[in-house]
Amino acid sequence: MPEGDALHRAARRLQPLVGQRLEVESPNPRAQATGVAPRVDGRVLEAVEAVGKNLLLRFEGGVVVRSHLRMNGRWRIEPRGKVRTGLPWLVLRGETHEGVLWNGPVLTLEQRNVARLGQDVLAEEFDLEAAVVRLRQGSDLRLGEALQDQRLVAGIGNMWMAEALWSIRTSPWPRVGDVGDGTLRDAIGAARRLMREALATGRPGRQVYRRAGRPCLRCGTIVRSRGQGDANRTAYWCPGCQAGGGPPGE
Ligand SMILES: [Zn+2]
Repeated sequence: MPEGDALHRAARRLQPLVGQRLEVESPNPRAQATGVAPRVDGRVLEAVEAVGKNLLLRFEGGVVVRSHLRMNGRWRIEPRGKVRTGLPWLVLRGETHEGVLWNGPVLTLEQRNVARLGQDVLAEEFDLEAAVVRLRQGSDLRLGEALQDQRLVAGIGNMWMAEALWSIRTSPWPRVGDVGDGTLRDAIGAARRLMREALATGRPGRQVYRRAGRPCLRCGTIVRSRGQGDANRTAYWCPGCQAGGGPPGE
């Protein structure tokens, strides 16, 4: 079957998502490391088109994601919230449906002037101390937002931010400037460990992400969620066992 046909069909399948502001995540840590999901999470998808052997997803603000499917990649459209096993490369979550990319071996950002990225959190060689110093450059940011700032440390998205901070019992809400080096070290270290584990086992191992309104698996307090930062990505945290306070004004 000609690859171009498959791409045009994929572009058609994704049309229901065009015009919507999407929640985007990369459950697969390899895909997370591309930095694509955090750059388009919360943006409006303006167009999807097949161009040559690529699927181009155009988001507001001039951000373009290129998906080349090679032999194994597949785009599916599924009802929102469908339970699935495995680690898709990209999930584009709209109001009623989500576009899901499986085994997308090539996923890149086409935006010009992409800011220089921080260290790749999944890299074999990783300098944790240097990553802490770099994260300090975001001292005015809330911890949860800073961990997703790709210029500070690359590869951590919304889901892994929530899971890493839950695992070290720290809230996403304190400002980076108000937490100690030990906490920053633990937070980055936990994200790296959890993402590498997920890669090795094929399981995302979610404990807190998207569990708002349900009891914390560790202490039973009801998990909360709230938009955070300029991109207004949803932070999930347990006010019972994650220290550091809540959103501003509380
Ligand atoms: Zn808890």
